[in-house]
Amino acid sequence: MAQTKRCYYEVLQVTRTVEFEEIKKSYRKLAVKHHPDKNPGDTTAEERFRELAEAYDILSDAEKRAAYDRYGHSAFQGGMGGGGGMHDPFDLFREMFGAAGGGGGIFDHFFGGGAGGDNGRGSDLRYDLQITLEEAFAGCEKEIELRKLDACGTCEGTGASKGAKVSTCSLCKGRGQVVASRGFFQVAQPCPQCRGEGRVIDKPCRDCGGEGRTAFGEKGREKVCAVLVGQVKRASSGGGEAGVRGGGKGDLYVVIHLKEHPVFSREGTDLHCTVPIPFVTAALGGEIEVPSLAGPVKMKVPAGTQGGSDFRLKGHGMPRLQSVAKGDLHVRLEVEVPTKLDENQRKALESFAELCGDHNTPIHRSFTERIRDLFS
Ligand SMILES: [Zn+2]
Ligand SMILES: [Zn+2]
Repeated sequence: MAQTKRCYYEVLQVTRTVEFEEIKKSYRKLAVKHHPDKNPGDTTAEERFRELAEAYDILSDAEKRAAYDRYGHSAFQGGMGGGGGMHDPFDLFREMFGAAGGGGGIFDHFFGGGAGGDNGRGSDLRYDLQITLEEAFAGCEKEIELRKLDACGTCEGTGASKGAKVSTCSLCKGRGQVVASRGFFQVAQPCPQCRGEGRVIDKPCRDCGGEGRTAFGEKGREKVCAVLVGQVKRASSGGGEAGVRGGGKGDLYVVIHLKEHPVFSREGTDLHCTVPIPFVTAALGGEIEVPSLAGPVKMKVPAGTQGGSDFRLKGHGMPRLQSVAKGDLHVRLEVEVPTKLDENQRKALESFAELCGDHNTPIHRSFTERIRDLFS
């Protein structure tokens, strides 16, 4: 076990002397890359993902890191390294990127940090995709339509028209910055003539105004399934916007949302629904049909079932991650009392009441006793 483990520093691709911030940065980068949702069908992805979480858990904690540095993996044998005190890898991921369900966190990171990183790179895009519970259950492919800035076809992204000359900016001499004086201070500013590019094009492309990109509509298809609901999925690397004048492309992220369902509510892989039954069925017991996403399911109602009772139908919920097993269906029974009785029905119930006296209502009897105690 311990012998086959890879070195935590190696897993996180950092050196042994690196600061915490670097460890965090590296974890975030690698965890996004190896997230199982992004690597469907790749069985090593989840393994790598878990390995990363474990390495991060140890190396992000000063005490554990010190112990690891001294004793290696054996520092955590028989407890702390294996299970106790460790994050669930998926929880850790969510913590690091903010609640994935809400959507916001991960994008703030990518839009803010990633896009600004290399100069002129295109923006990452976010697409919010709504699917129904049935679609999530069965898995489906959805068409998505984006409008985005893509490389200009006329100038092929260069921003220059045919025969145009690209020359070093005369104002900033190619530095892209000019220094301005403000009172006692000298402040470096992006060059106004070349907008910080350091070079100028004498005849910019007319279709894109020299930016090298124009807005296009684009259609694509997106595969989704239940396990992706509420998660951020990087649909494609390079599926975002084109950069300025041939700068790198951003990425496209798809966030999958579930539409509300008229019958079922979802909680993880479990489904919940409320099913009304006649009060006679509740009293006598019987078999009823309850809905599930795979079709009606038969369910036994025991005699004497009270309203509000919960029943669990195993394996009739939503699919589970990387498994053929499914979650459960929770059925809450609502006992329906008839609002209209005809003459015969009323008589039958009256004679039923006479037969019962107060022998057949234990819940009511214990309630009456409690009230009596209260006032005596
Ligand atoms: Zn152009
Ligand atoms: Zn300039």
